[in-house]
Amino acid sequence: MRKSIFIVAGVVAAALVPPVQAQAATTTATVVSPKRPLNVREGAAVWTRSLRTLPSGTALTIECQVKGQLIDQGPVRVTDQWDRLADGAFVSDAWVRRAPGVPVPVCAEGQPAAAAAASPTTAGAVASGAIPLKTRGGPARAAQLLSALTNGTPLNIACQVPGERIAGTMRVTDRWDRLDTGAYVSDAYVNRGATPPACTAAAPAAPATAQTPAPTAAAGRWVNPLPGFSARPGFRTPTNPNHVGVDIMSFVGTPIHAASAGTVVEVVCNIEAGHSCDQTGSASIGGCGWYVKIQHAGGVSTLYCHMVRRGVVNAGQHVEAGQVIGYVGSSGNSSAPHLHYEVHVSTPPTSPANAIDPLPFMRAHGAPIG
Ligand SMILES: [Zn+2]
Repeated sequence: MRKSIFIVAGVVAAALVPPVQAQAATTTATVVSPKRPLNVREGAAVWTRSLRTLPSGTALTIECQVKGQLIDQGPVRVTDQWDRLADGAFVSDAWVRRAPGVPVPVCAEGQPAAAAAASPTTAGAVASGAIPLKTRGGPARAAQLLSALTNGTPLNIACQVPGERIAGTMRVTDRWDRLDTGAYVSDAYVNRGATPPACTAAAPAAPATAQTPAPTAAAGRWVNPLPGFSARPGFRTPTNPNHVGVDIMSFVGTPIHAASAGTVVEVVCNIEAGHSCDQTGSASIGGCGWYVKIQHAGGVSTLYCHMVRRGVVNAGQHVEAGQVIGYVGSSGNSSAPHLHYEVHVSTPPTSPANAIDPLPFMRAHGAPIG
């Protein structure tokens, strides 16, 4: 079990290729942390993993800032801003001295690459999970099948055309991307930075589209499984490529809701031998603790880990969107109370290979969680 959730086969390690980033202006700064070295963390909060430490006086190059945990113990300022370094790791800006009056840019996920302006194409990557993305002769599923690209395949997008509306892993859209090869892929399954320009009239006319309805990959109503709390990006990060979900920090006992209607398929304690899911876990224990897995329509499954005790539903039970299925805890591989939330497509079964980033998926289904 642990394997299926935390270990990823080498073949999927390169699943989501991040959009090409601009060679952005950076800010030079200095660590001010006289008593102990400053932790460089995986995320913008002290409960995220420390990757390394920096002694006071270390020069830093800051790419941009994100809003994170409020830090009021730092010597420089009280702030909820965290500085993202070149390798994607974060330090609290409370411990960083910068030149006064020089603003640090806000980090924008998938910010358009400045380099793209000089290039005729927009960089992207296939984000289709376990099922390869089909390239077609036109912007509709009825158009001629040309090839199939596996998850993570880099794309060079020339421009976009309107076509058949598709609900995909990244967005719900009627835009199709015309690649530099002339083939089309639905933009619903493309992880990219900038929005590609519209194809001009000179572009080949799109063939007639079939009037078949788009598949609702995840029909029905979707809700935030932890209303009032939000997730930070954390799906397959460069520093944690095997993390196939997002973490929503919360408090022990907060109700966890089914993200959509479905059938409960697993209510399980998943933990390293010799440990109990009924005790607070730690970063050194493997497993996602008490978890619930729900099978939804359209081959979508959701997984909810680290519950404080066994989920309050049973395998085989039908649940409605928003129904309470368990309570937040810190069981298993967890260093603070939170919900680890996964979305899988093309299930059953769930596997690391068919996990998709829950953030764009939930946004596309009207239930943004971060
Ligand atoms: Zn997690």
